Amino acid sequence: MRVGVIGGGPAGATVSLLLARSGVDVTLFDKAVFPRDKACGDVVGPRAVRVLSEIGVGLPDERWPVGEMQLSWRSLTMTLPSRGGIGFDGTGYSIKRQIFDDYLLRRSLQEGTQLVTGRVSFVGERGQGAELICEGQRCSFDIIVGADGANSVTAKTAGLVDEDRVEMGFALRRYLDGHVAMPRIDMLAPESMGGLLGYGWTFPNSGGVNAGVGVAVGQNRSRARGLHGHLDRYVAKLEHLLSTEAIGCDAGGWLKMGMIGTLPARGRVLLVGDAAGLVNPFQGEGIAAAIESGRFAAEAIMTAKAGAAIAYRRRLYDESLAFQSTGHLLLRVARQRTDLAGSALRGLVTLGRRHCGIAAGWGLFWNDLTAQSGPVPGGGVARGLALAGTLATRCDPIGRRYRASEWTRVPGIAGG
Ligand SMILES: Cc1cc2nc3c(=O)[nH]c(=O)nc-3n(C[C@H](O)[C@H](O)[C@H](O)COP(=O)(O)OP(=O)(O)OC[C@H]3O[C@@H](n4cnc5c(N)ncnc54)[C@H](O)[C@@H]3O)c2cc1C
Repeated sequence: MRVGVIGGGPAGATVSLLLARSGVDVTLFDKAVFPRDKACGDVVGPRAVRVLSEIGVGLPDERWPVGEMQLSWRSLTMTLPSRGGIGFDGTGYSIKRQIFDDYLLRRSLQEGTQLVTGRVSFVGERGQGAELICEGQRCSFDIIVGADGANSVTAKTAGLVDEDRVEMGFALRRYLDGHVAMPRIDMLAPESMGGLLGYGWTFPNSGGVNAGVGVAVGQNRSRARGLHGHLDRYVAKLEHLLSTEAIGCDAGGWLKMGMIGTLPARGRVLLVGDAAGLVNPFQGEGIAAAIESGRFAAEAIMTAKAGAAIAYRRRLYDESLAFQSTGHLLLRVARQRTDLAGSALRGLVTLGRRHCGIAAGWGLFWNDLTAQSGPVPGGGVARGLALAGTLATRCDPIGRRYRASEWTRVPGIAGG
């Protein structure tokens, strides 16, 4: 079998690595020359660490442990504890993407993946297979996997995305000199952000600090204009902590969240990672979902072959849909009622300061760690939140569509 993979980020590197390891003939196309930078908070969370260890890949040496995290709303701050569960240990790592992505891609090349550097401009099904065009050259494969990020050309040209329905975010990252002891997320008041929901982050990094600001913009990408000003203001507030002098240039990128508006697979074309819209709608984490979906896609291709699209969709549905649709529902409500979202956050932070179980439960839930948490403090709170979210999406008309038609048919996109 011949498989073409477009994109060498965490999703593409994982799917190609696993396929090549099993003897599949894999060609990976990326427009960038590695090692390349990628706008990111650089935090590889516990779920990603677990999957990487399960597939025997591990992590690069240059990394910084990330455990407990502070979450703040206005002047209130709570600490989200970090404890291991059944399926993960409590630590994630901060690793510069230039290093992390290059490490994963190299591991894939060692397993036998062939790398082509070039921009892919078209992907479509053809006969019993699929074809792509890279720098004017047509190439045919049995299956093509689009791992080409939030603005996926694969999703667009293969007709797998409805741009009017996707849930987008935009974020900007800046490296700073200095050191912070604990990673921190500051929820930003919508009135200071032009009415947008967003947060700032300050994460420790091997070369200093990674700071940034991200906002949820829904379908209207023009709302992300002006984010540089918000980042400048956020960084200025860190003055008492560290040098606010930037190292290098700011880098920005889109996040496609909540699995909405994208059909993750049809026929001979599969989408993984950001291309499939798998970014966590609560906090913008996408590396774990990229790696996990890469694994699901590889396993579906190896076991179901021509039926891979259906097997892959089913697996994503089982593993991720409840969480993603809950996150999407909350995001929609919070965008419409920012006053309500503010009060809920104040309540959460106030309660979380007093009751460690609530802070721990929220930490597990919003990092999508509930399913593997087991009998740890906060596990019951996390399971309660997950259940409430699942029930709420069942009552919500968009949530119902998610469960029924979305998975075989996005309006305007035929399933199969
Ligand atoms: C500012 C910011 C901060 C973030 N912080 C975090 C964080 O701290 N932790 C976390 O888990 N997630 C974070 N995310 C999300 C995370 O970066 C993504 O979810 C993750 O990179 C998805 O991996 P991927 O492999 O799907 O796509 P990508 O990493 O985007 O890789 C896509 C690859 O495809 C290639 N490509 C694209 N188009 C083409 C084409 N036409 N032809 C050939 N090649 C192509 C690109 O060159 C790239 O190498 C952040 C995102 C942003 C924007």
